[in-house]
Amino acid sequence: MNVQLSRLASGTPSWDYGLGKDVTSAEAIRAMSRAQVLRAVREHTPISRSELAKHVPLSRATISSIVSELLDNGLLLEAGLATSTGGRRPALLSYQPEAKMALGVTMFNNEVVAVLTDLEGHPLKYCPRVWTGRTPEDLIHTMIGVVKEVCQSIDCRRVLGIGVGLPGVVDVSQGTLEISVSMGWLGGRVEVRRMMEEALHLPTIVANRSRIAALGELQVGVGRGISNLLYVFIGQGIAAGIVFDDGIYFGASSSAGEVGHITVVADGPLCQCGNHGCLEMYASESAIVARAIAKARAEPDSAMRRITKGNLQLLTTDLIIDCARQGDAAAIEVMNEAGTYLGIALSATLNILNPQMLVLGGPLGCKAGPLLLEPTVREIERRTLFIPLSAARIVSGSTETEGIAIGAAVLALKHTHINRIFSEERLANNGHD
Ligand SMILES: [Zn+2]
Repeated sequence: MNVQLSRLASGTPSWDYGLGKDVTSAEAIRAMSRAQVLRAVREHTPISRSELAKHVPLSRATISSIVSELLDNGLLLEAGLATSTGGRRPALLSYQPEAKMALGVTMFNNEVVAVLTDLEGHPLKYCPRVWTGRTPEDLIHTMIGVVKEVCQSIDCRRVLGIGVGLPGVVDVSQGTLEISVSMGWLGGRVEVRRMMEEALHLPTIVANRSRIAALGELQVGVGRGISNLLYVFIGQGIAAGIVFDDGIYFGASSSAGEVGHITVVADGPLCQCGNHGCLEMYASESAIVARAIAKARAEPDSAMRRITKGNLQLLTTDLIIDCARQGDAAAIEVMNEAGTYLGIALSATLNILNPQMLVLGGPLGCKAGPLLLEPTVREIERRTLFIPLSAARIVSGSTETEGIAIGAAVLALKHTHINRIFSEERLANNGHD
């Protein structure tokens, strides 16, 4: 296990991607050189060593030494011979993204999904399993079982690490789940990383599902090609993933992105967090259902009454969306109100973060589409400063469980050695800008 994996496995993740204090300058220079070579082969694959020398400002001896190292660990492959230009035909090198892999696992809608990806975050294999358990410990044991199933057909030595996406408050540095109000898990700290690493012997990183969903949207959804993105997960709770320069911004204690607890009504109802008038009290799934029931009671002709045969306790956000799509005025008004409160809260976040894209994701954001997006955008346009507003595309999310699992695998890749060598090159280039 290399230095960075050891640090991750032992509980000291290297969040900064920088040149950590245990990395000597010689090691750092070697890492940057390795990154330059690997990136050049990746961009121009297949490529000969002499062509490679034109793309990398290193001596031929250094390039040759690094190429040997990368051939040894399988990241590069000799891939035939180039066309002759007069002398011996040169050997071609190709980049092998499947030489190493990552695993991601998450739970969503009573389903645990694990995914295996290559180094580029491309999915190679999915493994879903229905989960009907109740406790976080049971969920982690199920996740371990699903990951073992994925690993049955592969050489686990090729897996760099595992990313785990969980609902609730996660201490990323400790790898623990602290609490999940939406799941009713209030019993205390669960040592998720320790449980996963003891069972699977692979370095593990644990994060809140909303943060990881943002990475999934970048990898396979509407956020492809975006470096600065705000992803808002709207479900039973509301929380955001902040993507800052291609990486997740966790904040000082892993809680960056708790937009659901922004006050939108100063003297509004009491929230589970202890504050009054939080966004979650107006735009979460349970808040929307409660509002729809109240509206339908006051509207004898509402489609929401017909669709539930008068038993309004059967209303769900799916049914409310169906009624709104059929033109039911009360259902449309409920969605407009939720979007208005989302717009009030998110205009503040756009002013602060100035992202390229704002995604309304999570189960409600994805399935409601324009019904929620349009009133949210209307309110954001009323309240946001012109410069951040004009920079941000505001869209509905496009990925759910599988996309979140891919985001978890991408998070694992971002915190393991192989990605560090790419990142260090970026840092080095930034230093000269
Ligand atoms: Zn709150």
